[in-house]
Amino acid sequence: MNVLVVYAHPEPRSLNGSIKNFIVQRLEHAGHTVQVSDLYAMQWKSALDPQDNRSPTLGARFDPSLDSQQAFVNGTQSIDIEQEQNKLLWADTVILQFPLWWYSMPAILKGWVDRVYAYGFAYGVGEHSDTHWGDRFGEGLLAGKRAMLVVTAGGWSSHYEPRGINGPINDILFPIQHGILFYPGFDVLPPHVIYRTGKIDAAAFAKVCDELGQRLDTLWTTAPIAFRKQNAGDYCIPQLTLRPELAQGEAGFGIHVSHPDENKLSQHRVTVEQSDLMHAEQTR
Ligand code: FAD
Repeated sequence: MNVLVVYAHPEPRSLNGSIKNFIVQRLEHAGHTVQVSDLYAMQWKSALDPQDNRSPTLGARFDPSLDSQQAFVNGTQSIDIEQEQNKLLWADTVILQFPLWWYSMPAILKGWVDRVYAYGFAYGVGEHSDTHWGDRFGEGLLAGKRAMLVVTAGGWSSHYEPRGINGPINDILFPIQHGILFYPGFDVLPPHVIYRTGKIDAAAFAKVCDELGQRLDTLWTTAPIAFRKQNAGDYCIPQLTLRPELAQGEAGFGIHVSHPDENKLSQHRVTVEQSDLMHAEQTR
């Protein structure tokens, strides 16, 4: 299998640097082919701007989306963008590895997404009508590939529990896992988060590698997060709201993950409704 690791840490001797080396060794030892986009080492340009199109329309007002589309269609994207897109197309699985900085990814990695996720590549793909709102959220150019986050955090795991001060980790990572990975089609595996990094010594690092190693060994068998596909019937189109009969009375990020008992529950509801109807007709 081909694995792309997109890695964002400025210091090779950091915990993240060691984790990245461990990931590469473990996967290669298992026979996989690994490419690493080491964004700081590559001096990745993080700001999206007119220079991202090698052949911009002279004098025209810069429109980030349209310029991205034109460059993608005309084959005039900046070479670094093209190279990263080719790596994404090559990969069977993509790992985004980073320290949690201000409850999100480091700016250099966000800049990688902004520039590599071009119009026509990651968005603006597929039929866009009143019944099909583009190939996205479960469909798209990257469908069939897997993705996983490997994140380090200074905070304790309890700080990220459902009642923790920082908010639930699944909510904090939702914009990345749902908005950036599921959007262009990836199957998103549960994240691997390493907490309380300030307390990591040699013994704790061995445990970190042991647990992460198990995740890497099961990359191809782990069940993805059950995000609901946009065009599979769970959403009203074009409003793009979850159908009223699903996750009734609930709101928030969690409603976009389907519940394992949901089909049984909705089947039960239909059966109850049918029997109520029959009862009403019999007593009429
Ligand atoms: P390092 O600092 O390199 O290492 C951490 C520990 O691991 C050190 O004790 C080091 O000695 C040890 N270590 C490193 N390599 C090894 C090795 N090979 N073997 C054994 N031990 C090793 N945290 C949050 O929870 N939420 C936030 O929102 C948040 N925002 C931040 C914003 C910024 C700008 C910054 C700088 C930090 C923030 N943090 C936050 C903390 C941050 O997430 C952690 O500092 C980071 O995850 C640690 O990763 P590192 O690779 O930089 O660790």
